[in-house]
Amino acid sequence: MMKTNQDKPKYKNNFYQRNLLKKLIEEDRLEEECGVFGVFSPENIGTFSLAQFGMFALQHRGQEAAGISVLKEGNIRTVKSEGLVLDVFKQIEPVEDFQGNAVIGHTRYTTAGGMSKKNIQPLYAVNYYGKPHFSIVHNGQVIETDGLKEELINEGLPFLATSDTEVILRSIQRYAKEPLEVAIRKGMKPIRGAYSVLLLTDHSLAAFRDPHGIRPLCIGKLDEKTFVFSSETCALDAVGAEFIRDVEPGEIVVADNEGLHSYSLGQSGKSSICSFEYVYFARPDSNIQGTEIYNLRVRSGKKLYEQSPVEADVVIGVPDSGVPSAIGYSEASGIPFEPILVKNRYMSRSFIVPSQKLRERIVNLKLNPIAEKIKGRRVVILDDSIVRGTTSKILIKILKEAGAKEIHFRSASPPVVSPCHLGIDMPDKKDLIAANMTQKELTEYLGVDSLDFLSVESLIEILGSNSYCFGCFTGRYPVEKINKEPESYQKRIEY
Ligand code: SF4
Repeated sequence: MMKTNQDKPKYKNNFYQRNLLKKLIEEDRLEEECGVFGVFSPENIGTFSLAQFGMFALQHRGQEAAGISVLKEGNIRTVKSEGLVLDVFKQIEPVEDFQGNAVIGHTRYTTAGGMSKKNIQPLYAVNYYGKPHFSIVHNGQVIETDGLKEELINEGLPFLATSDTEVILRSIQRYAKEPLEVAIRKGMKPIRGAYSVLLLTDHSLAAFRDPHGIRPLCIGKLDEKTFVFSSETCALDAVGAEFIRDVEPGEIVVADNEGLHSYSLGQSGKSSICSFEYVYFARPDSNIQGTEIYNLRVRSGKKLYEQSPVEADVVIGVPDSGVPSAIGYSEASGIPFEPILVKNRYMSRSFIVPSQKLRERIVNLKLNPIAEKIKGRRVVILDDSIVRGTTSKILIKILKEAGAKEIHFRSASPPVVSPCHLGIDMPDKKDLIAANMTQKELTEYLGVDSLDFLSVESLIEILGSNSYCFGCFTGRYPVEKINKEPESYQKRIEY
């Protein structure tokens, strides 16, 4: 059969193709911005395997690119490329060159600076006037850095990439002759926003977190001298490390041959970790700042039933992150939970760019109900959030086509009404459906019999305090993105 132009793959660049496809498939999902992982030991350990295992556990936090920097015999070697963690590790040869005594690694999803290969982390800085050299990985997004970047360029610091992470790197590099914690403290002083960073030097590994602790970062140990740092505890489990504690907001922790040392970043701020980590981004087997993610998601489902009970025959969850809340809703209501929405886990690895016609089938291809279990039944469906509403609408259509008698939609997070500038890739406000429709309008638009969102008050109740960022639900952020005047960065909110 003759091929039409529409059928031909339009772009030759695989990286672009993959990202375009990802946008098509994931267009109604929020994307985590990155995962960081690191290990330091005074002795030579299996850094290659440890990094591979740890980063594999953090793959959900970024699938565009990955990379590692290994410290071996005082030298830092870096490998990074587009693709998944295992794609990158397959390129490393000989493996022995990457069996050192310390490593940092990164799984990437782009938020600031664009998709350029130059922005793949770790980023490396050579300090010409003497050691230490630096290699850095960053989870988060810093804001209002334009003035600082210009200053650094004027001072002769080289900018090789376009990401906010390089601004952090060069700002610290400016003070490279000082003790590491002093260089970090001084370098981070003019920078605001969300950052959980690992910085590898020729003889140490530093972990530090912004004063609000917006993105997570924890510490574990493999033995008394070998320390592990990770965005989430699931990576500690993957390498067999014991959890010690979280890096505190505004804390610098340095691991070197003498052990762990804690310093202050010298900036104050109200602890405000991202509440969306709990309802959606983090893996359900992680524990963040003392909260078991799975249990919290079950509680969100129970709370949703308390908020808006309904009579129904079956509860289903949108895999994966909607499932624990569906189980919670089921436990609270007594309505049976059934895993009858099936997810195809291989979508993004299986296709080149589809034609426009097939685009509409993507949701169906990714999530397919077991029709005979849906037919004639009153269904409660739980998802982690509603962003643009496009996926939810198609999913409702699929359930109707499968014969659902009634559909009651419950979102395990509050309405997303304001974009995030603190490290989560989110559509503009005009594309956030809950920012542009009332709940009644949205109920009609989705075509459901009832709709409800977990309220911000309920979310605060199940989290146990208001020391979190709820910015995308309230429009109020721990660090406002308002103007470029340094003093105004200090504006904070009280819940
Ligand atoms: S605005 Fe939303 S997604 Fe961004 S840090 Fe705050 S809670 Fe998390």
